[in-house]
Amino acid sequence: MIDFQGILHKVYSEIGNRQERGKVATYIPELGDIDINKFGIHLVDSAKNEYSEGHSQEKFSIQSISKVLSLTRALSLVGEKLWSRVDVEPSGDPFNHLSLLEQENGIPRNPLINAGAIVVADVLVSELKNAKVEFLDFIRRIANDPSIDYNLAVAKSEKNTGFRNFAAANLLKSYSNLKNNVDEVLDFYFHQCSLEMNCAQLAETFFLFSNRGHCIQDQKFLSVNQVKRINALMLTCGFYDEAGEFAFEVGLPGKSGVGGGIVALLPNKFTVATWSPGLNKKGNSKLGMEALEMLTTETGLSIF
Ligand code: GLN
Repeated sequence: MIDFQGILHKVYSEIGNRQERGKVATYIPELGDIDINKFGIHLVDSAKNEYSEGHSQEKFSIQSISKVLSLTRALSLVGEKLWSRVDVEPSGDPFNHLSLLEQENGIPRNPLINAGAIVVADVLVSELKNAKVEFLDFIRRIANDPSIDYNLAVAKSEKNTGFRNFAAANLLKSYSNLKNNVDEVLDFYFHQCSLEMNCAQLAETFFLFSNRGHCIQDQKFLSVNQVKRINALMLTCGFYDEAGEFAFEVGLPGKSGVGGGIVALLPNKFTVATWSPGLNKKGNSKLGMEALEMLTTETGLSIF
């Protein structure tokens, strides 16, 4: 039996108070005020035992982590034909790169960079009657938690300053890879990014990716094959131009967000979420990465 609580405690004591914490994202003004000294970690093992340290019950903006959840919804709605509109190759570029420009075909490199997630958002706006309401309901069902919600101030803040996402969406539109109105798709995208969760809710929500598609309540949301695909995308594309580094240091599929959250998992073993708002130069939580590196070193558990 692995002493997860003991290991989380060690991670928290050694990493949680480090001085070098990176920088909080300010390009979304509403995120700029978050206290950089926060640090939380929460782990759910395959038997659904839960372990926590630090500010694991405090909510934060999950930002790009939501891209995995919108992808999950889109894949369950339209299946494999999704891949005709978005590719599955790592980009090696920052999350907000307009990499469509280079390919000249309007197909984003993968669904976890912004351009790809905007195509996925377009699919949801097409397929759902009221995308914002139904997507939120979907997340609440996976997490078994009706308290999960959007942060409307964060969504509004990003809408006012998300010029690059408007550029990406317009570019997609010019290639006919956006079916709906740009403003409508981005309104959905900014709301999905503004979803707030704490580390415990995040680990519980992502439990399904370590549990062969069955959520924490044992309800099936994805097939084993779909989970394989999404975990592969998290491993190769979940950290943008730092995906190689994350695989090298941590060795788990995972996803980061500019709110400072990271979620990662080892199939059939555990799901873990960290939160530390300071980001490194690549836009990933600095202490979150260090904590997960220590976790996989101390437990001896990684996909490798
Ligand atoms: N909403 C953010 C954006 O589109 C998400 C980026 C992120 O978390 N990496 O810029």
